[in-house]
Amino acid sequence: MKNTDNYKGQTMPEQGITITQEALKEMMVEAIKAARAPNSVEQMQIDAQVRESKQANENRLKLSQSVADEAKQRKWNRNVCTHKRADGTTRLTHIQEPNGPGYLLCLWNQCKIRPGAAPKNYQGDDIYDTDKFNELIQGVRSSSEILI
Ligand SMILES: [Zn+2]
Repeated sequence: MKNTDNYKGQTMPEQGITITQEALKEMMVEAIKAARAPNSVEQMQIDAQVRESKQANENRLKLSQSVADEAKQRKWNRNVCTHKRADGTTRLTHIQEPNGPGYLLCLWNQCKIRPGAAPKNYQGDDIYDTDKFNELIQGVRSSSEILI
């Protein structure tokens, strides 16, 4: 095989090369890898997508952390809430349910105070306390009189 490429008018001399099958295979693999590799524009787009993806993941993490923090804060507020205004009047309204005694809803922290025991494996935020329910319902006016 004669090389006919000219460089400044000179013809490169023909050279005989011996190549092993293993080396040829390696060269082919490298050539295919190079052909498949993204060019610089594609690489910039890929890098930008990776950055956007990382940023989106960080934002999701921050959001989930802030949602968890808000839930913790809400739970804490409910635990320390007196369900009463400074003048001692109640912030509660009695919510009737079709079955059972219903519950008292605190208009300040959305606390729900229910009589009886919490259902087995209860995971919610409702406060189950019969004594507190009975004490607090004394200060609740009928729902038509309740003003927020
Ligand atoms: Zn409350």
